[in-house]
Amino acid sequence: MMNVPLNIATMLERAERFFPKKQVISRMKNGLVRHTYQEIGERTRKLASALRTLGVNTGDRVGTFAWNHHRHLEAYFAIPGIGAVLHTINIRLSPQHIAYIINHANDRVLLIDDDLLPIIERVQDEINVEAFIIMTDDPMLPETTLAPVYHYEELLQQAEPISFVKDLDEHHPAGMCYTSATTGNPKGVLYSHRGIVLHSMALGLADSAALSESDVALPVVPMFHANAWGLPFAAVWFGTTLVMPGAAFTPKILAELMEQEKVTLAAGVPTVWLGLLNELEKGLYDLRSVTRILCGGSAAPKGMIRAFEEKYGIPFVHAYGMTETSPLVVLSRLKSYQQHVSNEEKLDIRAKQGFLVPGVEMKVIGKDGEVAWDGTEMGELCLRGPWIADEYYNDERSKDAFRDGWLYTGDVVTVDEEGFIKIVDRTKDVIKSGGEWISSVDLENALMAHEAVFEAAVVAVPHPQWQERPIACVVVKEGKSVTKEELYDFLRPQFAKWWLPDEIVFMNEIPKTSVGKFLKMKLREQLRDYFTNVQ
Ligand code: ADP
Repeated sequence: MMNVPLNIATMLERAERFFPKKQVISRMKNGLVRHTYQEIGERTRKLASALRTLGVNTGDRVGTFAWNHHRHLEAYFAIPGIGAVLHTINIRLSPQHIAYIINHANDRVLLIDDDLLPIIERVQDEINVEAFIIMTDDPMLPETTLAPVYHYEELLQQAEPISFVKDLDEHHPAGMCYTSATTGNPKGVLYSHRGIVLHSMALGLADSAALSESDVALPVVPMFHANAWGLPFAAVWFGTTLVMPGAAFTPKILAELMEQEKVTLAAGVPTVWLGLLNELEKGLYDLRSVTRILCGGSAAPKGMIRAFEEKYGIPFVHAYGMTETSPLVVLSRLKSYQQHVSNEEKLDIRAKQGFLVPGVEMKVIGKDGEVAWDGTEMGELCLRGPWIADEYYNDERSKDAFRDGWLYTGDVVTVDEEGFIKIVDRTKDVIKSGGEWISSVDLENALMAHEAVFEAAVVAVPHPQWQERPIACVVVKEGKSVTKEELYDFLRPQFAKWWLPDEIVFMNEIPKTSVGKFLKMKLREQLRDYFTNVQ
């Protein structure tokens, strides 16, 4: 067979060649704007040329700080198209972490949305960037303390379109993204041309996301987090119509976009879909065009899957992945011979994260080696494959997560007889009590199912006899009240006795990371203080 290197530029070339009339629709400040793939191709080639003129060379990092829209899409292809590295910066990180990753990646140029300028201005003295390109709909540059600044559209007007670099090694880095670590600084992941092309192919498989030319895809998941799950790359390659939601969208805006543009596939995290469900309650929308919603990033509650499917007839697909895995690796679809079970059982299966998509491999390591596929034994999920990272970029923490050719995900799972994995915890959060493991996530979900509970987090505290024991921290809903005993009565029928938390502590709020995940380390510290004070 020919040894042809996989290269991202060929993906855009295919869209230009075969789908020049298909569109990218972006929600911008003054409404929706439409560009054909022919226009996107031309603009991308001009951006590539402008970056070259600014001195960007092969291997240089170029950062983006932007929402989902056509200009960000152009950057997705122009930067790797000249052999440089697209560094998508998560706008939700703390200013300190934003400065850290810009410096750690050594970004030479930044492309910034005008409304996000203040965040970068705040860290400008701590970073060393040679040029700032402002992405704006206004003909004039906004006032800014950054320098030197360039107007995105002006740069494009002055540039001549160029050809992409295609004789790159397929392992050459094309993109990078930092994960929001719960301890220490964010960790960088480099994506190769090869990884992105193969991951895109996986998104098109019939048993995975089945993305195709006939789809109208709405990536709600941000392009600054795990490449919007790779959808922009795959959509362009397949000639899929793309709908980009832009800045600061609300559930109402999403519902309107989905109806108006006849979206067929939308992808995002559970909180987005929870918001949409509330909006749909108003009964104002016709979303019959939607053939599936893709949901991942954290566990999709069974009740949510049921509501979308039974109330609104919208198929709901649960998936799992992480920044280190491009991200799609596991997706929940019933097998053909699982169709005969009851609706309730089907929901139970599909609420699990699912099984491996073709192309990647897994093993699950428990306290005594590989776990049995019995749906009960817990172990850490390990992954390998052509779109799984093999290290963190210039980071000595690599050796903790990458061992013997596997990525140790830090996710604790069970595997059922059919190979469906269920995430039960993070390795650092699972409670190790008397040689057995207790899932903090299961206890949290049970507590949060109580009608008076707003939020619940369960953490381990050291114990002289059992090594660790669970403590539950509960935030009560406004206007509601509940006692400790009532909560214990509620939990007792659902769990073995030794799973029950040793203590339930009521709090005003649970500390969270900048991306909204529970900050359990902080919580453990607070609890240590709490117990010292009550003793
Ligand atoms: P972060 O920057 O927050 O680490 P990632 O998107 O890389 O962002 O987070 C990946 C983690 O999110 C996984 O390791 C896992 O713990 C969690 N996760 C992702 N998808 C799911 C899912 N479907 N169900 C439960 N947890 C999930």
